Amino acid sequence: MEHKLRLLTPGPTPLPEAVRLALAQDMIHHRKAAFVELMHELQPRLMRLFGTAQPVLPLSCSGTGAMVAAAASLFAPGEKVVVVEGGKFGERWREIAESLGLVVTVLAVPWGTAVDPQELRALLDADPSIAGVLVQVSETSTGVLHPVRELAAITRQRPVLLVADGISAVGVSPCPMDAWGIDALLTGSQKGLMLPPGLALVALSERAWAKAESLGPRHFYFNLLAERAKSRQGQTLFTSPVNLLRGLAVSLALFEEAGMEQVFRKQWALTCMARQGALSLGLEPLAKTHFTWGLTAVRLPAGVDGGRVLKSAAKRGVVMAGGQGPLKGRIVRLGHMGHVDFGDLLAGLYALRQGLMEAGGFSAARSYLEDAIAAYEAALQAGLPEEAL
Ligand SMILES: *Cc1c(COP(=O)(O)O)cnc(C)c1O
Repeated sequence: MEHKLRLLTPGPTPLPEAVRLALAQDMIHHRKAAFVELMHELQPRLMRLFGTAQPVLPLSCSGTGAMVAAAASLFAPGEKVVVVEGGKFGERWREIAESLGLVVTVLAVPWGTAVDPQELRALLDADPSIAGVLVQVSETSTGVLHPVRELAAITRQRPVLLVADGISAVGVSPCPMDAWGIDALLTGSQKGLMLPPGLALVALSERAWAKAESLGPRHFYFNLLAERAKSRQGQTLFTSPVNLLRGLAVSLALFEEAGMEQVFRKQWALTCMARQGALSLGLEPLAKTHFTWGLTAVRLPAGVDGGRVLKSAAKRGVVMAGGQGPLKGRIVRLGHMGHVDFGDLLAGLYALRQGLMEAGGFSAARSYLEDAIAAYEAALQAGLPEEAL
């Protein structure tokens, strides 16, 4: 018998039924009144989601497109930037920056750990010509949450722009852009926002806009200055991803109905549940501290083939992700962002155990499901951790 498919990957993530129904609607024209109305209605809601007084611009691309758009708009070839590199997506920032002709200083962070803000401070103190810092809010390849609020406290005091890839963080854990002092925040549709891939969102701070204006348009397609002008008219520069934006209106409504506080509380409780479940299965989470709320990366016991664990979990309908780069085959990444609840996560932990048993890595006889449920309930009771807010 077929199992129910449970997509527990850190993107794409499952779609709520109301979103799927919105996506199935027939086309409306992106230059006509009904679409303009949708865009004007979305804008203030997106600004609340990002925690900014600046416009949030939709782009028709995957999340990486918004990374390129932000970096290209804010820095000219030859300008110096620091890239926080502690995983696959930090590497991507470096590759993007290099492709744009920026001069990159890599702040290397061991995979599975978070950047130390004091190291960034020292780099910026040593070289006042550094113009920007590129970082992930959540490094999805390792499940690490970088201390972006602390990084922004350092960059906001100087003429250094902080560009934060929030692709696996926006809608999952708090990262209020203006309150923290982030200069560019971006995300993609297929993670916390419970949408299919193909839509990216990006916002710039006031001083980031001033920098973008001073440089002028730097890219024909990713022209954020022209996108901002279009967004004032309720449009996008090129043909808009109409269905995705209609789906977005519904996923934002789901957030608004629950309230973001509740959304974050659920994500936090699922994170505590996943970590405790994994620990009770005898698995060691990759990130000891500063862990992402939307996924849990765990090390596999020596000799256990990660590919085999994933295959055997998939036989039970549970699709999880493996490691990337040097972590390939060595870790499992259990996604729990977006439209995932405790029932899905129980299925995920069960499938993980079955995978371990079949791959020869199961040793613990602990009551891992009981432990996971207890951690979930305790986290819901206790509310959000102080340091995250
Ligand atoms: C998923 C992800 C990306 C890549 O996004 P695409 O939509 O595949 O382009 C980049 N950064 C982070 C942190 C991600 O989680």
